Amino acid sequence: MDDHLPSLLADAARLLGERAAGLDTRPVAGDAAHPPPVPLPREGVGGLAALETFLRDWEPGFSGSAGPRYLGFVTGGATPAAVLGDWAVSVFDQNVMSTGDSCAAELESQTIGWLREMFGLSHRHHGMTVTGATAANLVGLAIGREWLGEQRGTIVSDAGAAALGPVTILSGSPHASVYKAASILGFGRDSVRQVATRPGREAVDVGALATALRERPDEPVIVVANAGTVNTVDFDDLAALAELRESHPFWLHVDGAFGAYAALLDSRRHLVDGLDAADSVCVDLHKWLNVPYDCGAQFTRRRDLQARVFASLGAYLGVLDDDHPEPVHLTVENSRRLRALPAWMTLLAYGLDGHRKIVQDSVDRAGELARLLDADPAWRVLAPVIMNVVCFTPAGEPDPAAVARLLERVGASGEAFLTPTVYAGVPAIRAAFSSWKTTADDVGRVKAALDAAHRAS
Ligand SMILES: *Cc1c(COP(=O)(O)O)cnc(C)c1O
Repeated sequence: MDDHLPSLLADAARLLGERAAGLDTRPVAGDAAHPPPVPLPREGVGGLAALETFLRDWEPGFSGSAGPRYLGFVTGGATPAAVLGDWAVSVFDQNVMSTGDSCAAELESQTIGWLREMFGLSHRHHGMTVTGATAANLVGLAIGREWLGEQRGTIVSDAGAAALGPVTILSGSPHASVYKAASILGFGRDSVRQVATRPGREAVDVGALATALRERPDEPVIVVANAGTVNTVDFDDLAALAELRESHPFWLHVDGAFGAYAALLDSRRHLVDGLDAADSVCVDLHKWLNVPYDCGAQFTRRRDLQARVFASLGAYLGVLDDDHPEPVHLTVENSRRLRALPAWMTLLAYGLDGHRKIVQDSVDRAGELARLLDADPAWRVLAPVIMNVVCFTPAGEPDPAAVARLLERVGASGEAFLTPTVYAGVPAIRAAFSSWKTTADDVGRVKAALDAAHRAS
């Protein structure tokens, strides 16, 4: 192995820089074509040749998700400083599991402090970076499970989930990851009960939730509140939900994967009033903070219970200090990437103002697309645009197959990528804006691509 990292990095900067320059013009959805498998190489080709082979054979089949017109899911982009941060993570290859040998954990901790301030959370909340919102929801619900045990005089992390008996998770519009967490944590997917939402909305009906709680006077309950649903970016009334705990104690987890970014905008901050009252909070960083995958953050007021759940006890790992638990005792991982660094870099490079502008721009882009669609009888916007997602459908009575065909045509055009959904029983399309790169001109191109695909249908 005689590769020389400093010169390889210089070559990589040149080669990847060229490709980065093409991100805005390459097809937005690749055709996913890939080369056939090759046998495990006996002799290596060296780092530079490996990079060149990757760029020649594999990169053309990649999507343009880092470019401006990828509006599927809630994908975000990656700011230049965040990408640099991600490179630095690999160069220094820190293992952020403990604090004895490196200040990396302190960098994560300071980054979490910035994020806490950005999302309007008080110092009562501790936090960690995790791989994304699914992991943040899993960690939050695991702490909730431990709390339910504490309420009943049981230590669930020792006795097991069965000691709680059946647990109910109540939520108005739970994300798929909540069902996944319920499956992993031993509650079971059936424990998730969807509570009625407000008429014509995805936000939970607080009265219906109060009734669901009254119907379960002694049962252990976790409420998953939504700050930003995926179809319409609707928000539960977080303050009202927090108040319900006075008559029926439950664990309140808020899934704010991308909706928590409402806290950055004067015009939308009221949507997350009450967020700080949550027992645990999930936010994604690889979505609207525009850092590379995979990165999210979880917060909780009960780090003591978190450490009880995730303690990784072994002679060589050291003991658990209740006041200052090492990172290894706080999340699913033992060894951990310094995934906070890209977030730290982008916040330092562009500041709160720069990130506020990214969020505001996405909201503006969503408004622009909604206006174009509204003005065109060929399309129907299905819900008011609250933040950064437009939920719409072709006029008439579209069936799911027709929507799928239309979206396939859009993808094949190379101009844009959007994903399907069903909203209020209607097969629909979501356009989710969350990249720092997307301009008003891009919105026009997306609309034109949609129109062309619609006409061809
Ligand atoms: C994206 C999303 C998730 C899952 O996030 P990942 O980062 O993909 O794991 C959970 N909840 C909501 C509301 C989301 O938008």
